[in-house]
Amino acid sequence: MRKNIVAGNWKMNNDLSQTEVLITELLKQEQTSNAEVMIAPTSVNLFQAFNSTKNSNIEVVAQNMHFADNGAYTGEISASMLKSVGVKTVILGHSERRAYFNETDELLAKKVDAALKNDMRVIFCFGEELADRKAGNEEKIVGDQIKNALFHLEASAFKNIVLAYEPVWAIGTGETASPEQAQDMHQFIRETLNSKYGEQISQDMTILYGGSVKPANAKEIFSKPDVDGGLIGGAALKAEDFYAIINAF
Ligand code: PEP
Repeated sequence: MRKNIVAGNWKMNNDLSQTEVLITELLKQEQTSNAEVMIAPTSVNLFQAFNSTKNSNIEVVAQNMHFADNGAYTGEISASMLKSVGVKTVILGHSERRAYFNETDELLAKKVDAALKNDMRVIFCFGEELADRKAGNEEKIVGDQIKNALFHLEASAFKNIVLAYEPVWAIGTGETASPEQAQDMHQFIRETLNSKYGEQISQDMTILYGGSVKPANAKEIFSKPDVDGGLIGGAALKAEDFYAIINAF
């Protein structure tokens, strides 16, 4: 059975005191949907965020991690370090990581392996750029991103994977894929999974949409049959907006 998930990616926003303030605000909100709720603060604040949300249903997740267990990788954070501060889920492959930190499908495959080996859940992000869509190549790009980073996995690994389709042209731009564009791509993603892993895994897969989801458009996007939730950037930084999106289910 797939789940509804709404995850807030805070990116490089909110210092320690701002993190505490936002979490206090989040904890005051009322949840009327049954969606799983996640927040991804910056890594230096994960421990604090984990402690502050302990008695709530908000899961604190990481925005990134390294593939190695430990060693000479200055500035990096491993899966076991994340687990040691209570984090059980990691976002991998965000388009900003791909664009600004040169993360390739091959590197992401190693990160996915490391997370799964450490019994972590992965929110795996991918999506086409505007030029790809204009050229009609969006399905080829998305299909390749999924195959290159995930298709070496055993079928059983997919119970710990959530997919997040995030068209790069819609991230932080105010531009949203239309609900129909999101549905078409999510259906394609499910078909892609089905072609390799079969009906059960493809139907059980939770597929999130990300790209300028706001309270005003969440309901329509989430109403599409293959859209199971959202990965939210800007609107996740305001407690009321974030919960309006969560409650759009
Ligand atoms: C994101 O960064 O994953 C994202 C979807 O951002 P925004 O909602 O701001 O477009």
